[in-house]
Amino acid sequence: MYPITLDLRNRHCLVVGGGGVALRKVQGLIEEGARVTVIAPEVVDSLAEMADRGELVLEKREYHGDADQNWALIFAATDDRETNARVFHDAEEAGVWCNVADDPELCSFHLPARVRRGSLQFAIGSAGKAPFAVRRLRKLLERRIGPEWGAWSSSAARYRGAVRALGAPRDREEALFDRFFQETVDPDELTSRVPTAAEERAWLEPSAESVDCSSAEKKATADRVGLVSLVGAGPGCPGLLTVRGRQRLMDADAVVFDRLAMAALPTDLAPEAELHPVGKEAGDHPVPQEEINDLLVRLARSGKKVVRLKGGDPYVFGRGGEEAEVLAAAGVPFEIVPGVTSGVAAMAWAGVPVTFRREAVRLTLFTAHESAKPDGPQVRWDLLAQDPHATLVGYMGVSALPQAVAKLIEHGIDPSTPAVMVEQGTTSAQRRVISTVSELPSAVEAAGLEPPALFAIGPTVAHSDTLDWISRLPLAGHRLVVPATRPELGARLESAGAEAVMLPLPATPAARVVMAALPLTGCLVCTAAEVDWMDGERDGSGWGDAVVAWCLGPEAAARARERGWSNVRELPAEIDDDELVATVAGS
Ligand code: SAH
Repeated sequence: MYPITLDLRNRHCLVVGGGGVALRKVQGLIEEGARVTVIAPEVVDSLAEMADRGELVLEKREYHGDADQNWALIFAATDDRETNARVFHDAEEAGVWCNVADDPELCSFHLPARVRRGSLQFAIGSAGKAPFAVRRLRKLLERRIGPEWGAWSSSAARYRGAVRALGAPRDREEALFDRFFQETVDPDELTSRVPTAAEERAWLEPSAESVDCSSAEKKATADRVGLVSLVGAGPGCPGLLTVRGRQRLMDADAVVFDRLAMAALPTDLAPEAELHPVGKEAGDHPVPQEEINDLLVRLARSGKKVVRLKGGDPYVFGRGGEEAEVLAAAGVPFEIVPGVTSGVAAMAWAGVPVTFRREAVRLTLFTAHESAKPDGPQVRWDLLAQDPHATLVGYMGVSALPQAVAKLIEHGIDPSTPAVMVEQGTTSAQRRVISTVSELPSAVEAAGLEPPALFAIGPTVAHSDTLDWISRLPLAGHRLVVPATRPELGARLESAGAEAVMLPLPATPAARVVMAALPLTGCLVCTAAEVDWMDGERDGSGWGDAVVAWCLGPEAAARARERGWSNVRELPAEIDDDELVATVAGS
């Protein structure tokens, strides 16, 4: 028997039979993108439903010599051996590969049992001779081959690309592949790991060929002068992190991050990158600024690539300037990767353009925070109040709002000037309150808005209803965990307005930080294996009782119920994207 893997996308396959065995074959085929026709006088409900949804063609009738050359593959799974035999012989005559369930004599090919980890597949077969042994072996391997192999195979694919890009001779390429395998696979334990970016760099260096890993790593570290990248994480929506910011993060040995930057951490950050949270946790005090400064200098001096990740833009009310001064004084190389500042982005998400021709020709980003201290620099309320063609955007604004409004009114601002407060702008938890400047403080209090929030005052706020594009999206406000192996699904949910938290397998420490950053509303799982590995993550903060488990297919749903998940919603395995969005939106 000669094993191959087939690309069945858009190939026409025939399944004769309509029972449970036929159903499993049909599901396997559809999962691989085949076009399936089922011929059977009676079929189980699931097959009928799939036909109703247009996922397969159902011909409810007896078999009449249909196994001809028009099919790529043919399966027979009726409980009548005679029919099965006719299908097989017709297929043989037509020269088409045919499989009869549980009848090795009537098979021109056999289906191996499979253990899948990401794009990696282990197939086990016995040429149809001992299926019981194959089933038991599959179970054994299912237990022995950990979930980490999925991430490992993606990293192997990426590494192969990096090696190919070197354009090195064949034997050097093979040596580099050997290196990857030796360093990441434990052959006795049958476990694997994803290498760090630093390791991969070291292996790919021309001089790394003959040195062992630890010395290569040491050399790489010693050669490198530490660098601190002060990176703006953007306002909260993960997609608003810049390309360069993401590149620095993926390359970092250590990441020092604030609370406001949590949601923007890439979930596929190398698991080996050190994570240093220095923001304020609920009830805790933030790490004092001097300690953060010391930490940055210490990490950089040990030769590490450090990312200091700050919400929004590092230089906009973010103390980035102070940290850069400290690094400069310590002789530590640093760079700035600007970010999308929340004062502009949260307003865009709230439908407020911060400038507008003929309406607002000036934009003032300010904080009233300092003004609260008598010895701090004072805000010129008199100037701000006298400028009707301007937009004022106030950072750190919740507690300062009443005083700011009182001052502006005292200095003559038109009390009916439109005003808005946006909480958690650009995130799934965004809320906004629209009012006039004089009414905003009481409206904000009534709505119970809390930091982080910004206010804006000015004529352009009047556009906020017509330009509110975000709350019109069907999945606005949803924050869904999606297995990282399903990027298309994540992209579809995002385009419908959801935040998709792409969870790698196994979960990275960064993914755990991201999941905990804001409450989750749901998760999507397609297989029992996905349920199993997501199960371990559900104790994290972010996973409240309200999280809905959207299970695509009965297998995932059954496992989720078995594991006692609450709010399990079963959907068809092959549900169309639009239907999925509509269902989640309607929940
Ligand atoms: N460097 C950041 C600002 C840090 S100061 C930037 O450029 O955006 C912290 C203040 O920023 C918060 O008190 C709040 O006023 C504002 N802020 C940050 N992220 C926000 C968000 N997603 N929504 C609303 N306000 C936000």
